[in-house]
Amino acid sequence: MPSREPNSSRIVLTTAPNASIAAQIIYGLELRGINATLCDAPPRERDSYQILLSDGDEVIARSAIEVIWDAMLETMPRAVDRFSNCLFCGYNTQGLAPPVTCPECGHNLDSIESRRAASEGRIPR
Ligand SMILES: [Zn+2]
Repeated sequence: MPSREPNSSRIVLTTAPNASIAAQIIYGLELRGINATLCDAPPRERDSYQILLSDGDEVIARSAIEVIWDAMLETMPRAVDRFSNCLFCGYNTQGLAPPVTCPECGHNLDSIESRRAASEGRIPR
């Protein structure tokens, strides 16, 4: 059996805006048997932290990340305002079934990225 090389690869699984969210993600990964490490994000990154895969299967780790973000974002609704208008372009999405992709601007309003952007006030209007 070939010996594994020391893990020098730095696979960024996700980024996190603060230490509390980063800790929740790392804990969630640990529960699934995936070891991850936290490090500072490069200066120009949007988020402050990067979560790197240190040991485990990348595909499993990535699907775990989806589940973990989903759980954390459960309370964060899709990227629409209280009138169901798309937060990216203002198009009214009332009556569209989830997952909603805005017919006007093409943003998936239920995606983790869109919900994060909405919850963090990062959507330019
Ligand atoms: Zn839109």
